[in-house]
Amino acid sequence: MSEIVYLNGEFIALENAKISVLDRGFIFGDGVYEVIPAYSRHPFRLAEHLVRFQRSHDAVRIAYPFSDAEWTRLVHDLIARNAGEDQSIYLQVTRGVAKRDHAFPKDARPTVFGMSTPLVTPAKEAVDDGVHGITAVDYRWLKCDVKSTSLLANCLLRQQAADAGAVEVVMFRDGFLTEGSSSNVFVVKNGVILATPKDNLVLPGITYDVVLELARANGIPLEVRPISEAEVRAADEIWVTSSTKEVLAVSTLDERAVGGGKPGTVFRRMHQLYQDFKRTVMRQAA
Ligand code: PMP
Repeated sequence: MSEIVYLNGEFIALENAKISVLDRGFIFGDGVYEVIPAYSRHPFRLAEHLVRFQRSHDAVRIAYPFSDAEWTRLVHDLIARNAGEDQSIYLQVTRGVAKRDHAFPKDARPTVFGMSTPLVTPAKEAVDDGVHGITAVDYRWLKCDVKSTSLLANCLLRQQAADAGAVEVVMFRDGFLTEGSSSNVFVVKNGVILATPKDNLVLPGITYDVVLELARANGIPLEVRPISEAEVRAADEIWVTSSTKEVLAVSTLDERAVGGGKPGTVFRRMHQLYQDFKRTVMRQAA
């Protein structure tokens, strides 16, 4: 079965999906996107992803092209037309095709694209042993709460991690933790989960929200406040979270063991809670 994508009103084979080289997504990275995991063909936290998607459109002044009902239909159609029980649904909207000029075109129509890729959840080894992380100064822009396709800084930072044999880069701005190149970052100290506040310096992660909900529902101590670089470096545990990574422990940071150099007890509890939560939600959706 060939991969079926959505482009501007049509479901077509990936190899037939073509856009103009003048698309502002190509020329300027002028677009926004979402990534929604689907388990057993059911999208996970779709409503929350759509809220964030609309907020990203509003922030960059691209007209939100569809209603939530239309997006929901599109997502379910993409899942149905593609192979695999677990899929990662990618949605992207750009400001459209126009003569190259930084200022917005008056009459461009947004380009709407959607695709499905197989969702590969973290390997057992990554969950059991943790992953390597490095640190870097966060030199991205000041609107990191917008899920923009302008991801050059994130790509450079992530490649820095890859070059060092690490899975993620943990970033600091002005001496405080922000997030990873494509994940949110949590810290555990003395049994307390520390989470960065949701502000303009981090993406409001859907997984971040799930982790906060699970911590609160299960009475795990939690503080949402700015976290200093020193606190991160002295942490008992460091986690990265995202829709595709779920919750993963960082076992080494800049080649130094985090805590005991193995995923900690709070991580193991949260990982289990997350898996149970996913199963419950999917059972309800079925
Ligand atoms: N921060 C950044 C920069 C990201 O790209 C992502 C992945 N979308 C996240 C955090 C985690 O967000 P989510 O849990 O919604 O996948």
